[in-house]
Amino acid sequence: MNMSWYLKYRPKNVSELGLTEVRETLEKLLGLAKWPHAFLLTGPRGLGKTSTARIIAQYVNCLQPKELGMPCGKCRNCQLFEAGQAVDVIEMDAASNRRIDDIRQLRSGVGLAPSQLKYKVYIIDEVHMLTTEAFNALLKTLEEPPEHVMFILATTELHKVPETIKSRCQVIQYRLATDDEMVQTLERVAKGEKLKVDKKDLYLVARRARGSFRDAIKLLEQVSQDGRVESRLVEKLRGYDELVKTMFDNLLDKKFDEVMDDLEILRKTGVSGEEVVFDFQSLLVDRISRLGTVEREELEYYQDLSRELLEISRDVREVASVFLSVKKMIINLYLKYQRTASQPVKEPRRAKVSERVVKPERIKKSQAEDKKAGEKKAAKPPEPLDNVRIDAEKLKQVWPGIITRSAEINHGLQAILRMGQLGGVKHGVVEIKVGYKLHKALLERAKIRNWLEAELARELGLKRVGLVAEVSDEIRQKQQKRKQEKSTEQDDRVAALLG
Ligand SMILES: [Zn+2]
Repeated sequence: MNMSWYLKYRPKNVSELGLTEVRETLEKLLGLAKWPHAFLLTGPRGLGKTSTARIIAQYVNCLQPKELGMPCGKCRNCQLFEAGQAVDVIEMDAASNRRIDDIRQLRSGVGLAPSQLKYKVYIIDEVHMLTTEAFNALLKTLEEPPEHVMFILATTELHKVPETIKSRCQVIQYRLATDDEMVQTLERVAKGEKLKVDKKDLYLVARRARGSFRDAIKLLEQVSQDGRVESRLVEKLRGYDELVKTMFDNLLDKKFDEVMDDLEILRKTGVSGEEVVFDFQSLLVDRISRLGTVEREELEYYQDLSRELLEISRDVREVASVFLSVKKMIINLYLKYQRTASQPVKEPRRAKVSERVVKPERIKKSQAEDKKAGEKKAAKPPEPLDNVRIDAEKLKQVWPGIITRSAEINHGLQAILRMGQLGGVKHGVVEIKVGYKLHKALLERAKIRNWLEAELARELGLKRVGLVAEVSDEIRQKQQKRKQEKSTEQDDRVAALLG
């Protein structure tokens, strides 16, 4: 039978549960002379809440437990259980049985003695989904539970469970697993599969699973083949790990252009954008927790980054492309902080101006406008306008004026246009050469491009003019050289001041 490893290696007893405190709490509770009649298991998905519920249900019914928290697996009750024929263990999903009638039905069953086992065990998953009436009905049962009944409630959203219910349950809190805990579980799986694998590779898998046993086991299964871990696939994981870390460092250094390039590489390798956002978030948390004193400007940047990431992760399910959202985020940060690759010089005054210009409301508004205009429009090259003839000389004359006015749209745009250069003119389309992909992306945003096209058309006295941005290595080199000169010049000035 081809069963997924996750199902095959579901914990079968308390000692196989991955989270240390959950294991310890359960050992304590199950060792009591009188067991709690209601449990409430709460925490994120993929951490073994359902497995725990089943272990408890089997353990309390086992006729000869091997040891504390370990059902024998052989007695009549265990056999019924393992064959999926234990009719006294009732599993229900509150997401689909959330109405009062469902709970009434449950209550009428509660009164009846178990038909085979010692205990009737009700496992109610996603219990926060119950309606208020259903909760009230459940509460009555929890207040006076018959001796032969046990409730095991599970939820991912504890705050939605009424206090009255919580207070009558033994609450067990699940948290994301540590890398060590996940590696322990992975070792159990590897042993079961007779898998040849290095411990450091297990750690790599664990890190990628971000605290979820389920994801870790699934990932291990994915990178394994014929009894061994495929080094090619593990290399890929390692490659991803390193690339994301580099990207994050570049993001903190405000080397937006490089982040943009790497993002494209990641997208092409088929990594999900959601994953990248999550990893950025955890790297940021890690970085902030190790932060010493930091300049105000830096702190503000961290806060902005964190806010942007949070916003993306909230909408992850709704947006068509998370990658696109991440790119927008980088552009937003770029516009606000305006420093490109290899530009280490801080310009506080200019930063202030940009803060004034690019307020969060404006970013939001322009994002909304972009959405309205449609992402595709921004990315699509302009159609050739065959019947339009642009006078190249006239274009050269009007261009500086457009650059000056572009500051009204935003200062980032003006800086980009200044650093760039007019390219050729063809079929009514004006080409602008820029040094970086990020600049190209910015010029091609619907709002910016529409403005530039309208300005060009007006100035040139034409009905319509198209615009296209191209990345040119030559321009990039020029810009880098200029920056170096600038900073040497400044160094010289500082040196002169110091005498
Ligand atoms: Zn048993």
